[in-house]
Amino acid sequence: MLDIVTINSPNHDILRRRAERVNDPTETAMRTLVADMIDTMRVADGVGLAAPQIGRSIRLFVIETGGRVSVFFNPDIIRYSEERSASEEGCLSVPGQFFSVERANAITMEYNDPEGRKRRIEAEGFLAIVLQHEYDHLEGILMIDRVK
Ligand code: ZN
Repeated sequence: MLDIVTINSPNHDILRRRAERVNDPTETAMRTLVADMIDTMRVADGVGLAAPQIGRSIRLFVIETGGRVSVFFNPDIIRYSEERSASEEGCLSVPGQFFSVERANAITMEYNDPEGRKRRIEAEGFLAIVLQHEYDHLEGILMIDRVK
């Protein structure tokens, strides 16, 4: 399991940095990192884990929803629904705390998969919330910033 950076960690600044694009998602080091991140997410009982949360300031996150793991490199959110809703969120970098956060009900995201192919996902409901939460990590934004 990789160490998770929390807001109380000495290196917490990395959570506030805008992460760098990944030029080649297919390189061996990335495959190893993705596998380690998936293990860590599961051991920590998280729904998602972004690279800055394990001390790497790169544009990569993994999620597990509905029993399925997905890997996102270099994501961009290209559409947000106007309809928004608030729901309770937790974060492995803000241990033990839950906050009501308002987000778009639906989004469209473009990203690269682990084979480097460009993909697009249209998400709504819980999946849309998870994707927006993890995307925020790559922009240096934490859920606590979005609490009203
Ligand atoms: Zn988080």
